[in-house]
Amino acid sequence: MTMSTTTQPLYDIGTLVWEEKIPTRQAREERKKIKRIRGCWIRVWNNHTKFTDKEIWEVVRHVIGNYRFNVHYAIEVRVQVAEPGCGAYGNVRMYIMDDPIITAWITDNDQTFPELCGYTKGKGYLDKLLLDKTEALMMVLAHEFRHLWQTDISDGHNLPERKAKHDKLKFKRRGYVWGARGVLSNRDGDAYAIRKVREYRRTHQQHLLQSIDYSLRVES
Ligand SMILES: [Zn+2]
Repeated sequence: MTMSTTTQPLYDIGTLVWEEKIPTRQAREERKKIKRIRGCWIRVWNNHTKFTDKEIWEVVRHVIGNYRFNVHYAIEVRVQVAEPGCGAYGNVRMYIMDDPIITAWITDNDQTFPELCGYTKGKGYLDKLLLDKTEALMMVLAHEFRHLWQTDISDGHNLPERKAKHDKLKFKRRGYVWGARGVLSNRDGDAYAIRKVREYRRTHQQHLLQSIDYSLRVES
């Protein structure tokens, strides 16, 4: 992967910032952690979980699938260990002056799985079955990436305007949230995430499917 391209993608500023922030030798190491996927720069940030970086990249590639981004984001993916008592949760931070940051918190206790996650109704979330922590990570990352695409779709046609806004706000760092116009849908995010996990489960998780309770299998 070459970092010195002559044509700069429109929203590639994040990559440059990462390089300025860190000293040279460390920067070289960090650069290896940045990959170009589907028109975006993606970086797996400071992974100290039991997942290997390779496992995280595989999940990231799977959830992105064939999606082609309209906006060339520089996305930071953070995976952290969840608080005890919670299996899996995440968020995505989208501010106009910063790179989007997707954070997933996943339990490192394998005894948690299989788990059927239910939610209080009314927030848009759907119930989900998770067979192991890889599926938990996939569920969270797919949901959060989907939020990025929800804004990508709604604003992608509007790039010049956004670029102008971007330049104007350059040194102001306002808490301007992308997609704050009600385009974010948890239901849509969950539906997509469940689809991606089922896809993965069919091809990779047959051994787990055979060993789980029938009562849990209904959902799958
Ligand atoms: Zn959400």
